[in-house]
Amino acid sequence: MESQKKYPRTYSFEFFPPNTPEGQEKLRATTRQLAQLNPKFFSVTYGAGGSTRERTLGTVLDIRAMGHAAAPHISCVASTRENIREWLQRYKDNGIQHLVALRGDLPSGLAAAGEFRYANELVEFIRQEFGTQFMIEVAAYPETHPQAKNAQEDLAAFKRKVDAGANSAITQYFYNADAYYRFVDDCEAMGINIPIVPGIMPIGRFSQLARFSDACGAEIPRWMRRKLEGYGDDTASIRAFGLDVVTALCDDLLQHGAPGLHFYSLNQAGLTTTIWQRLGL
Ligand code: FAD
Repeated sequence: MESQKKYPRTYSFEFFPPNTPEGQEKLRATTRQLAQLNPKFFSVTYGAGGSTRERTLGTVLDIRAMGHAAAPHISCVASTRENIREWLQRYKDNGIQHLVALRGDLPSGLAAAGEFRYANELVEFIRQEFGTQFMIEVAAYPETHPQAKNAQEDLAAFKRKVDAGANSAITQYFYNADAYYRFVDDCEAMGINIPIVPGIMPIGRFSQLARFSDACGAEIPRWMRRKLEGYGDDTASIRAFGLDVVTALCDDLLQHGAPGLHFYSLNQAGLTTTIWQRLGL
């Protein structure tokens, strides 16, 4: 973890683009609430294959109009070079200087993989076409990406993104801090020299968390799963337990030198704010 201690701590909150006017209004209220915590930026996800790209950009511009920094995500799966170039140009024309660059996942039923296979090719393309115009964040997987052949190959894939020009990384969420510490130490041993900010998923509903975790390969440790299952429909107990566990995780990460935290806020302010206050940030 030594190499991570030299970076200033960066706090950020992730949203998805709402698809109704009511959702938009609600997100503005969430933004106002979370902005009081003074994050470095908000980030806004990008639906696979570009399905939300107008709304992603619209949400980023909305957050900026409220006076806060915002970074759109962009994913390259099922896209052509021309599509991506055009879209990056739109970002640039709108004064955007900070991106989260991803491969994305192919939507079910969509056969064409597009002209980019992996995120390192996207990072390389952005650097080729736009130089240092954008600060680029990429994804990292302390518990290994579910499609990776093994952990070593996944690390090598992460290094290719860094070598292609990524400035910083945000991890998939995890509840096992040791996986993150080991991952960071392995990165350090490979000469990877960028901040690797832990992604934090607050726990609100167990069924939703279990679904997300199965899809993205994040492990819910057995002791946590058993506890959460035992609460059944008792959402108050799930939230109380989740707040204790996630606050303790964040505290441990920061004490070990993590360069900040990125909260998967899911367009809600409550859990993130409570964790923040309990951490005394
Ligand atoms: P990559 O880094 O390309 O890795 C994908 C897989 O390919 C890994 O298993 C890797 O080991 C393997 N791989 C890489 N290179 C090679 C190679 N040369 N040969 C063989 N295998 C290789 N998804 C969205 O659709 N929209 C979003 O907005 C979004 N935001 C995210 C934000 C964060 C912080 C994170 C952690 C994830 C996000 N995702 C998002 C999910 C992400 O798109 C998926 O996890 C996706 O499956 C992988 O994207 P990646 O950029 O990590 O891909």
